[in-house]
Amino acid sequence: METTDETFQTESEHTFYVAPGIWGMKTFFVNLYFVSEPGGSWVLIDTGVYGSASKIKQAAEELFGQNTQPSAILLTHGHFDHIGAVKELASEWQAPVYVHQMELPYVTGQSSYPPPDPSVGRGVMAYMSFMYPKKPIDITGFVEILPPDGSVPGLPGWRWIPTPGHSPGHVSFFREDDRVLLAGDAFVTRHGESLLAIISQGKEIHGPPAYFTPDWISAHQSVQKLALLQPEVAATGHGLPMWGEELRRQLNELSASFWRVAVPEQGRYVNEPAITNEQGIVSVPASDDKALTTTALVTAGVVAAAGVTLMLLKKRTKKSKVIAKWNRPYSHNRVATGTPPATTLEENLDAYSNDYP
Ligand SMILES: [Zn+2]
Ligand SMILES: [Zn+2]
Repeated sequence: METTDETFQTESEHTFYVAPGIWGMKTFFVNLYFVSEPGGSWVLIDTGVYGSASKIKQAAEELFGQNTQPSAILLTHGHFDHIGAVKELASEWQAPVYVHQMELPYVTGQSSYPPPDPSVGRGVMAYMSFMYPKKPIDITGFVEILPPDGSVPGLPGWRWIPTPGHSPGHVSFFREDDRVLLAGDAFVTRHGESLLAIISQGKEIHGPPAYFTPDWISAHQSVQKLALLQPEVAATGHGLPMWGEELRRQLNELSASFWRVAVPEQGRYVNEPAITNEQGIVSVPASDDKALTTTALVTAGVVAAAGVTLMLLKKRTKKSKVIAKWNRPYSHNRVATGTPPATTLEENLDAYSNDYP
């Protein structure tokens, strides 16, 4: 359908306005975005939690008219809360799904993500653990790799920016003209799901959700990269959009003090990242309880690449050791020691958490 000024600016019943031609939608605790072009075509960025497909279709029809279809679905990354409806929607719309090459193994059934680190947070995560998929989804047949030149299929004025760390092939999307940034989980604008955050609707920039972040060095570099873009608008996977000077100030602050405020004080991946390649996990550091060892998680197909991997690992470990020596007196991700996992919904919402995926 023809895009009018009105559809370009208003919000529908199920969506919130972000910037001209861009609307967000919250499914449960995660956001996805509808991004349109002046000609009337549009793309979907991320697909919410499992079971959201019909709600997403309904919102798309409110925005763009009956029987509308996107020209593409783009994924910032493949964590379960961002790909819940992707299979159903891709199949229904016959739309290609674009991911970064390093994210491919986790959406084509090849590899699971590096295991989450329960030592860096509980709260909502414990409450939602029933939702974790047991194995990676497989959307082979729909999935395509993002063009290496940085262009974004279906969105000529945009470019994608590699922002790994929270996941190996995490990407953000940036519209240069009016400096709109869709950052996925590279950073988020809400601190967990605390009741206070929900009631106050407070907007505050935080690092990527800790529970699922397996490479803090890359995550920091990604935030530095995004801060340098000096965005005018930022909308993320969790929390409300932020604008202007306040956004830039908080993002610069996060970038400058990332190891103090965003990285957990201690945890499985704090001193050593998970190593991944185009096939998925190569190795992960042992968990704190030593129950999971690196060898147990090395996938058979990757053994051949062990030489290269070892070199990478050595290089990364060296880097990590330097950072481990940094003085990090406090962290908002720190879990109160001795706090047992919360058991009721209210307790879970109330408990510390910045740990959704
Ligand atoms: Zn997320
Ligand atoms: Zn995530």
